[in-house]
Amino acid sequence: MGEGGASLAEVPVGWHPLLRRLDEQLSMIDPAYVVFRVTSTFGALEFAARAAALDRAERSRFGSVIEDAAWESITVCEVCGGEARQYVIRLRVWTVCAGHAHEIAGTAAN
Ligand SMILES: [Zn+2]
Repeated sequence: MGEGGASLAEVPVGWHPLLRRLDEQLSMIDPAYVVFRVTSTFGALEFAARAAALDRAERSRFGSVIEDAAWESITVCEVCGGEARQYVIRLRVWTVCAGHAHEIAGTAAN
């Protein structure tokens, strides 16, 4: 995933398959692209990357692949990769399945 100092450690594990796919797609456009930041912001994937010298069409494809992944991330449970929606629990936005929303809310209540 390039040498931008970003790591998967800050990304919820349920999103790792999505990120691997994103990485594959971006690598096909630019094998030398660099990731600066990959994290979860308000329950959505935030992915900041820079490509090398791309032409206009490639640059636009690069951006839209990242955007598609961000949209997809809000439908994928952060914990298990299952079908998710967004919940606000303890002032934080979680993108999780119903089961994990219940679990997180239960933990918060204790
Ligand atoms: Zn789940």
